[in-house]
Formats: sequence, structure tokens, C-alpha cells
Amino acid sequence: MALSTAEPLVICHLYPLEMNIYGDHGNVQVLVRRCELRGIPVRVEAYHPRAAFPARVDLLVGGGGQDSGQVRVKDDLPRVAGQLRELVASGVPALVVCGTYQLFGKRFITVAGEDIEGIGVFDLHTVGGAERMIGNIAIETSKFGTVIGYENHSGATLLGVGAQPFGTVTSGMGNNGDDGTEGVFSHNAIGTYLHGPLLPKNPRVADFLIAAALARRSNALGDGPGELAQELAPLDELDALAERARAVALTRPR
Ligand code: GLN
Repeated sequence: MALSTAEPLVICHLYPLEMNIYGDHGNVQVLVRRCELRGIPVRVEAYHPRAAFPARVDLLVGGGGQDSGQVRVKDDLPRVAGQLRELVASGVPALVVCGTYQLFGKRFITVAGEDIEGIGVFDLHTVGGAERMIGNIAIETSKFGTVIGYENHSGATLLGVGAQPFGTVTSGMGNNGDDGTEGVFSHNAIGTYLHGPLLPKNPRVADFLIAAALARRSNALGDGPGELAQELAPLDELDALAERARAVALTRPR
């Protein structure tokens, strides 16, 4: 499809009814607001089970969900698995949290023993355990510095040998409470257990996703480092507020 700079950035929100807990919708709201404040046209397209997949996607977002929500979307996922794999492989930025993160792996075996096949975007698998991993969490990342959030999952995720974690846990449990890893980072896609929602507390991650979407769009347009790929304007007032919230969140007990 021919692209023009006037066309809005399309954020595809995956399964917003089934996969949304602990405020994960807020991630989409932050992306939209940070675009609007900079005058970047943006549109959200929700993808619901059995619906048509959006014709163009610049950014993918998926939230967390209970095991029951994951069971509800598992039959639909194979319909769009190919498109999702292709989008991530082609550099479309993505943020998938907890339940969707698990389904983007190869397999999730729930605590009740249900075996859910993932779509294999990420090289990892998850096994539900009797003990939930719950609480505030902080991780160190090479790209974004300290990232903070809140986790609540029974699934323990193990990364494949070559998979790169999103970060290293400094406080909390992360992927499995054992190996110190949290989430996964592949191409421009982030999988993570961090709710909160994540993006209001970590604006650098939000801007990475927006900048990656714009840069990819710019390449597709063939205008090199043109208008769309320019540095994102700083949002100092908003980010100063986020910084204060982060400072408080980091002092919170687990
Ligand atoms: N159902 C999954 C688990 O408990 C995911 C939970 C979530 O998305 N917070 O592991």
C-alpha cells in the first residue's frame, strides 16, 4: 500500500476486551497522547477475535490477561499469527505485556494444565506454577535505563538460548524468579511482565516505540531521514511529572 506522510500512524491494539488487566489500556493512551502532543497524526485500530486484521499496522500493542482470557483468544491467534510474525520480523515496534507476551512465545502451559500453543514470535516458553509472582518490580535495561512496573503472574517464562531479555531484575521476580531475566527484546518488539501500566511510568520506552514506528514508515516512504524520522520533540513538563512518580514508585515496598 502506498504511504503518505499525511496518513496517521496506525496502532493495532490486540484483543482489547480479552487482554487488559492492571490498566494495560493506559499503554495505548500514552502512545496516542505523546503523538498528539507532537502533532503526529495517529489512529488506534482494535483487533477483536474473528475480525479483519488492519490493512496497515505501524505499532502493535497487547495487554495482560487471565488464563481464561488467553484461552478465549487462543483459537483466533493462528488466523493472524503469520501477519504478526511478519510485522515483528519487519521491524514494526511492539509492546506485549504478560498474557499476550506469553502467547507470543512458543507455548504456555497453564497452572490448570491447559497446553496453549503460542505464535512463536519470541523464542521462549512459559509454564504456570502454583505460586504467583506478585508485586512492584524494577529492572535495569541497556536501552532505557531503569524500567519500573508491577507484576502478577503464575507463568514462569524461560527464554530460548539466543533470546535477549528486556532487562535484568533488580527488585522483583521477572520471567521466572530464578535467572534474573525480565521479558524479551527482539527486532523492535518488547515482551514483558510489567503492568502499571508500563508506559506512563517509563516514557523513554513509549518514545522508543513511536520513534521506531516513524523511522520504519519513513524508510517505507523512501524519504530517508525525512520529516517522519526526525527526533521526537521533548515533552519536558509531562516527563518531569513521570520522573516524580517514578521516584516514588521506586521507594514502594515490593
Ligand atoms: N495468566 C497469566 C499468568 O498468570 C498472565 C497473567 C497476566 O497477564 N497478568 O501467568
